[in-house]
Amino acid sequence: MAPTSLEEALALRAERGDEATVLAGGTFVGILMNQGLLRPSALLSLGRVEDLRGIAVEDGELRLGATVTHRQVERDARVRAGWPALARTFAVVASPRVRNQATVGGVLADADYASDPPAMLSALGARAVLRSPRGERAVGIDELILGYYDTCIAPDELLVEVRVPAAPERAVYRKFRSRSTEDRPCVAVAAVRDRRRLRVVVGAVAERPQEFPDVCALADGRELDRALAMEIGAGYAERIAAIDDARGSAAYRRRVTAVEVRRAIEELAAR
Ligand SMILES: Cc1cc2nc3c(=O)[nH]c(=O)nc-3n(C[C@H](O)[C@H](O)[C@H](O)COP(=O)(O)OP(=O)(O)OC[C@H]3O[C@@H](n4cnc5c(N)ncnc54)[C@H](O)[C@@H]3O)c2cc1C
Repeated sequence: MAPTSLEEALALRAERGDEATVLAGGTFVGILMNQGLLRPSALLSLGRVEDLRGIAVEDGELRLGATVTHRQVERDARVRAGWPALARTFAVVASPRVRNQATVGGVLADADYASDPPAMLSALGARAVLRSPRGERAVGIDELILGYYDTCIAPDELLVEVRVPAAPERAVYRKFRSRSTEDRPCVAVAAVRDRRRLRVVVGAVAERPQEFPDVCALADGRELDRALAMEIGAGYAERIAAIDDARGSAAYRRRVTAVEVRRAIEELAAR
């Protein structure tokens, strides 16, 4: 099914529910189908829905349509000027071939733990807009991603837009890869500093992005020096839930978390 309007897409989604697999860039769905892990009886493609393709800045807020590609976020002049750390985050996903195809809605809706954008979007306070014929709701990234490949998107809902508030004074994204330069992150650290308050979100270490506001509160109103950055890095390493996988063991991820959180805070301080 290839609807051309959002209304039509929403009506088809409500009618068919999970029985029709939503298809955006297809970089995730395609692999699952090729491997025989997914055999959908129908595909609901969003590729022709014009309303989902836009990038806009309204009242200082960035609005990314669900089918905006990673490459568009990476290259858009408004995103680069207003949300440079977000543009950089999308720029380090996979290769240009994947980024030309993969969408903003797709990377959130697939809820793969080893992804780059969710940690940064979470640190920036972004909200995903979910719409169905019943209405619309906007949820934070921590509400959206429930666990491994699991989201709060209902069977009759589509993710239609991502809204990112005005950028903080400083933001940094650090992607630590343990294998090749095009690989998914082993540890992903997004750190923002606004009005002398610090927020650090760590992704790719376990099923959902994680943050510890009480550890970040150590930086309230203080200068970000190396000793403080080390203390916060150590606090994150101690608290973080980590898994073992092909990119690293849980113990390795905790060690890398300490270092990468420290480096992210030092980068914030240097900006
Ligand atoms: C070789 C390779 C390397 C990769 N490396 C990285 C990496 O380094 N970092 C990283 O972060 N990611 C990486 N990825 C993952 C890639 O970013 C995701 O596969 C991609 O973002 C998914 O977007 P898509 O538009 O292709 O989604 P699709 O494959 O079309 O869909 C993904 C899932 O979301 C659902 N869906 C899609 N859009 C919507 C919507 N609007 N509303 C509701 N449900 C929806 C689909 O039904 C499906 O379940 C890599 C992928 C590949 C193939």
